[in-house]
Amino acid sequence: MAFSSISKLESKLNSSYVSVKSSWSKLDAYVNKLRERNPSWPIWGVPLNPPSCLFELFKNKGWEVGWKPSTYIFTGSIEPDIKTIWLKSGMHPYERDKTLSHEFAHLFYPDRFGISGINSSRDYRWEAIIEWLGRQWRAKPTLLRTMINTFELEAKVYDWASQEAFKDYTLAKGQLVLPLDKRYTTIMD
Ligand SMILES: [Zn+2]
Repeated sequence: MAFSSISKLESKLNSSYVSVKSSWSKLDAYVNKLRERNPSWPIWGVPLNPPSCLFELFKNKGWEVGWKPSTYIFTGSIEPDIKTIWLKSGMHPYERDKTLSHEFAHLFYPDRFGISGINSSRDYRWEAIIEWLGRQWRAKPTLLRTMINTFELEAKVYDWASQEAFKDYTLAKGQLVLPLDKRYTTIMD
């Protein structure tokens, strides 16, 4: 029966473990549950959509985006001492934008203000909330456009949100604009 126990354990782990790699439906359900169970956490009371001038604000404060080799252990990280957001080279454009958005969510909601309601900013629950915010920001064309342009990254089109964000870019380059539908072709996973 060992085999059966192991599969049970595996399915239990799969169903309860939430990380930055989880599907959107799992992440969204998890964060909603956290909100339901912890309604007093300050994070629920702050604006969850940043103004698009947020990116300009960090740029003006001296923040930069830098690149780590493709062997880098993380997809992204923050080095506050030198005001740098590090991204791993060679990621799929969606992964790049999603990671950058996640790191900006960390910058926008630094946990030293005690905004999470959670003791440690390294807590996986806080990471899940940050990822949940970052993915939603990435899927908003205006925010995506401002984020990429402000930090002078290459605009990439891979779903509805990114196409909407860079519509005139692709048209200007004479590229085909695909008939993408917001409901079905916005990547969230
Ligand atoms: Zn993080």
